[in-house]
Order: sequence, then C-alpha cells, then structure tokens
Amino acid sequence: MFPHMNETAPNVDQAEVDKFDALASRWWDPHSEFKPLHDINPLRLDYIDGHAPLAGRRVLDVGCGGGLLSEGMAARGARVTGIDMGEAPLGVARLHLHESGMEVDYERITAEALAEREPAGFDTVTCMEMLEHVPDPASVIDACARLVRPGGDLFFSTINRNPKSYLFAILGAEYLLRMLPRGTHDYGKFIRPSELERWARRAGLELRDLTGMTYNPLTGAYRLGDDVDVNYLAWFRRTD
Ligand code: SAH
Repeated sequence: MFPHMNETAPNVDQAEVDKFDALASRWWDPHSEFKPLHDINPLRLDYIDGHAPLAGRRVLDVGCGGGLLSEGMAARGARVTGIDMGEAPLGVARLHLHESGMEVDYERITAEALAEREPAGFDTVTCMEMLEHVPDPASVIDACARLVRPGGDLFFSTINRNPKSYLFAILGAEYLLRMLPRGTHDYGKFIRPSELERWARRAGLELRDLTGMTYNPLTGAYRLGDDVDVNYLAWFRRTD
C-alpha cells in the first residue's frame, strides 16, 4: 500500500501499470488513447538524436510501453533495449517487431534491478512519460544514472506541476478534449523541472538542456520551444 515505505518492494505502482496493461492492444493505433505519444514521437526522436546521435549507440529505454520510442531509436541505428513492468505493453512491443522488421530487446524488469545487473551498460538512457507514474521518481533517476556509462547521455520527459499544467494536462486533455482517458494522470505526481534537476544532480548528472513541448488545440500540432509550463524534455549527462 505504501511501496516507498517498504525497502524490499520494487518501485512500482501496480495500479498505474494495470492502466497501461488494459489499453495495450491499441498502442500502435495512432487514433487511439496513444495518439499523443504518436504525435510527439518525431519531436522527441529529433531532440535525442540532435543532442546525442543515435546511430551505433547502445540505448536503454526505461518504461518503454508498446515501444514507440524504442523502435524509433532503433530505426535511427541505435541498439536498443526497452524495459517496462507491464506485461501486455511488452507483448505488443515484441509483436510489433514482426511487422516492422526492427530489432529491439524487450525485458520486464525495473530500472533499479537492471542497474544492479548492468551498471554503466548503456551510452544513452531515455525515460519518457514514465516518472509521473512511479512511487519514487528519484529512485528511477538514480538507477538511470547508474545504467548510463560515465560521459553518457540521459533524456527524461514528464509533466510540470503548476495551475497551468493542471488546466492543460488534466482538465484540457482528459476532460475537455478527451485526448486521454480520465485518471491517466495524477496532478500530485507531476514533477517540476527544479525537482527533476535536484534529483538528477544528486545522482551525479548535469543538466544540459531543458525544452518545452507545447500542444496547440486549434491545429492539433505539438512543437518544441521555451515554454516548459506543461510538458517538457530534459537532457542530462553523467559527468564523472
Ligand atoms: N515511454 C513510453 C511509454 C509511456 S507510458 C513512451 O513515451 O512512448 C508509461 C509506461 O511506464 C507504461 O508502459 C507503464 O507500464 C510503464 N511503467 C509504469 N511504472 C513503471 C515502473 N515502475 N517500471 C517500469 N515501467 C513502468
């Protein structure tokens, strides 16, 4: 019930994982609940590739879900491992490889457990739209920092916490526009950039860039820019 109070329990909120499990069959349908992830995928791939070119890199995608980002990175020449705690999203991700002909290694394991097994095993670690679904996001960030090699790059994305993000990410996206099922996000679990940076700094990471991702409800288009009030991407480097 209080996973963060039990040192032996994994850092997983089963109710959160169950939500994604229930929707998993629609993951690759660009008109489904996962439309926003489809729409932002090219933007975040360009962001990652622009800061830490993907070709030839060993990349870990934490909380990979059905594999949209993992496959996108593989298509750009990275050797990708995707991990998630949802069985159904991983099943969908593995099935989709038959359709796409791409290669990605998928495994059901937490970042914390993989960090014990493969410390410094990756050139780049990505963790997108996942931190706001775990009991202890700082623990995931710390594990990601141990999973990347010294000098390697990390990319996180999540949702800021302020009145505007409540309005856009909860009221707007879940109630008015119905882009996401109600209850997808919990306002209290949103993360301010200052919090993300503090947790990352404690884990030995240095912030290289913070970029906002904004949605225009009139055009339906997303773009990257300076406005980090709602959705944002962050690039860090392991400096030791
Ligand atoms: N990163 C993907 C999917 C985001 S959806 C993308 O942006 O396209 C959030 C994912 O996090 C879901 O697949 C869910 O199963 C996963 N997740 C939630 N808690 C997790 C945990 N503790 N460890 C690993 N994955 C987790």
